[in-house]
Amino acid sequence: MLVHLSELLKDAQEKKYALGAFNIENLETTLGVVNAAVKKVSPIILQVSETSIQYAGLKAITSIVQTIASVQAGDIPIALHLDHGRTFRAVAECVRAGFSSIMMDASDMPLTENIILTKQAVDFAHRKAVLTQGELGVVKGLEEIEEEERHKLMTDPEEAEKFVKATGVDTLAVAVGNVHGILKMQKGNPGLDLDRLEAIHKLIPDTPLVLHGASGLPEAQIQKGIVRGISIINIDTELRLAFTNTLRATLINDPEEFDPREVLAPSIFAIQKVAEEKIEMFGSAGAAKP
Ligand SMILES: [Zn+2]
Repeated sequence: MLVHLSELLKDAQEKKYALGAFNIENLETTLGVVNAAVKKVSPIILQVSETSIQYAGLKAITSIVQTIASVQAGDIPIALHLDHGRTFRAVAECVRAGFSSIMMDASDMPLTENIILTKQAVDFAHRKAVLTQGELGVVKGLEEIEEEERHKLMTDPEEAEKFVKATGVDTLAVAVGNVHGILKMQKGNPGLDLDRLEAIHKLIPDTPLVLHGASGLPEAQIQKGIVRGISIINIDTELRLAFTNTLRATLINDPEEFDPREVLAPSIFAIQKVAEEKIEMFGSAGAAKP
């Protein structure tokens, strides 16, 4: 069933687990993730990016999530979130469409502009009782930056405190050595700056922290992150890889097959397996038991 994210966050913070926030873009990826949540009896966040909304259409993707959450998911609680909203317009459309949480990402702007743009989104969202995630520090793809620059782009704990107070955001995406994308999975992982994460959490202990770019992060790092205030962990790249690699293999193995349902079923299952693994790793398995 579709629920408000605030209901899920409270339990995650109390019981010290993280909610998986899984990016979906169509019926098949949504089914894969939801099947995993049902099997693991876990609350989850389904999230869409602006490009996924452009791809599927806001109404279509929202309806897919709402329908699957109420039919296939049964009692398993699912919250819908906008990932990386870049404009006030995108944020406002998702608030109106029934999302219970949106992200305003102005993290590539200087602090003052980031605060102004994020606060504008927060004020609008809060009037409709929708939660807002902001981002401070810049989470880039590993391919985009050098090691030295990566440190400069990390979240400063005191700025994080100031940002949360000034904007009123409900959750905060932090840059603590996490990187977006696929390259880190091939090159070996730079790892999280756990001291920095701990310092941020100490200053804003009530604000759930969000880890972007968590695909490929080893379990030990994830768990140390959860202890230090991470309550939401985004997974996107690994789902895409599972889906597409499986699809490629399916088509090569059976070039005669032309039924989309037959072709796509293994990819749905591949998504499910990745999501199940993450749910176990994040400690949310069983958390939706009545
Ligand atoms: Zn992200």
